[in-house]
Amino acid sequence: AAAPADLDAYWMPFTANRQFKQAPRLLARADGMHYWTPEGRQVLDGVAGLWCVNAGHARPKIVRAIAEQAAEMDFAPPFNMGHPKAFELAEKLVQITPAGLDKVFYTNSGSEAVETALKMAIGYHRARGEGTRTRLIGRERGYHGVNFGGVSVGGIAGNRKTFGPLLGGVDHLRHTHDLARNRHVRGVPEHGAELADDLERIVALHDASTIAAVIVEPVAGSTGVLLPPKGYLERLRAICDKHGILLIFDEVITGFGRLGAPFAADYFGVTPDLMTVAKGITNGSVPMGAVFAKSFIHDAFMNGPEHLIEFPHGYTYSAHPLACAAALGTLETYADDGLLTRGADMARPFEDALHALEGLPHVLDVRNIGLVGAIELEPIPGQPAKRAFDVFLECWRRGVLVRVTGDIIALSPPLIVETSHIEQIAGTIGEVLKAQA
Ligand code: PMP
Repeated sequence: AAAPADLDAYWMPFTANRQFKQAPRLLARADGMHYWTPEGRQVLDGVAGLWCVNAGHARPKIVRAIAEQAAEMDFAPPFNMGHPKAFELAEKLVQITPAGLDKVFYTNSGSEAVETALKMAIGYHRARGEGTRTRLIGRERGYHGVNFGGVSVGGIAGNRKTFGPLLGGVDHLRHTHDLARNRHVRGVPEHGAELADDLERIVALHDASTIAAVIVEPVAGSTGVLLPPKGYLERLRAICDKHGILLIFDEVITGFGRLGAPFAADYFGVTPDLMTVAKGITNGSVPMGAVFAKSFIHDAFMNGPEHLIEFPHGYTYSAHPLACAAALGTLETYADDGLLTRGADMARPFEDALHALEGLPHVLDVRNIGLVGAIELEPIPGQPAKRAFDVFLECWRRGVLVRVTGDIIALSPPLIVETSHIEQIAGTIGEVLKAQA
């Protein structure tokens, strides 16, 4: 396919980085662990597309499922009825979600899953006669998508300011990433669980009976792979239970095997009341997200007292046949290759390769858990985000795709990654850091 000469004339890729015009612009093809440029150059995918292509690109069962579904039925309205794959998929998903999360609500993205979970929490309380529980709590440096609810509970202060006024009644927990205390920690930091007690501070500010839910990413992804200190999530769960507050885990990145367990909830042994997912649910192939909920919460929201919901919450494309078919093909592929737990086997070589970069020029911190990791660089004075972006550009030239967020390089390779790929990714970053010193 031919792209226009001025690539940004009609559509622009998203970026917060003013250097982006120098960035690689076109991806032509993808297969397994690799992308190809239009010139035929192979690039190793160190981020699974955008933390989503967990089984690697162009997996045959997923490709076939989408093609067959497109021929059989393109669309089915999700109001009052549905197609068989929507029901089949929900049952299969519930078989792999943590015990207790046994209802599925389909969305088309992570952002929509977040909005749905927030509304479900508030709607549930209201259906039970606790209409005062409307306050929402997020966490600093949390990322929950781009819609207004997600930006409101999100912890990106600049975005909250730019698009405000946002949802009222929102507070933010202090974030857990303490570089001074947790530098170069392998896996989760030992110290800092007491930061969860910040929830008690917020509860004391408002009455607990006004708070609907707390939403956190178990491991914050997009803002730089920030790991929860050991015991932090357990403590958050206990405080929520004490005050009747619902706990939402945003597992859009951590879901579907990224940490070496099916979900972060499994990895940490903490079950939320609601869980949002997207990305890996269809291996990135067709847009889809979902909320997994405890039955009594989901059912109160969907089917609460009649006068409460005049018009139901749902999207035209909820349970889209192509997405459901793609997700079924994805789950089969994950099962065939044991990918929901493969990250546990590959975590050690990944950890070793990343931590071998400690001590290289400008490396402030190296972090890892399962098959997600980050290398945090010292910013160039007066030029925030430039150092990491330069590393991204040079890695691309040398055949490796990484993700940058600020001055942090984030890695989340497809879960089919082999040790040789891990060595190529970390080795390339190491060479670039030395060359750019
Ligand atoms: N929540 C989290 C934790 C995410 O990482 C993302 C996307 N990176 C989203 C929500 C938003 O998902 P989407 O881009 O599919 O709307």
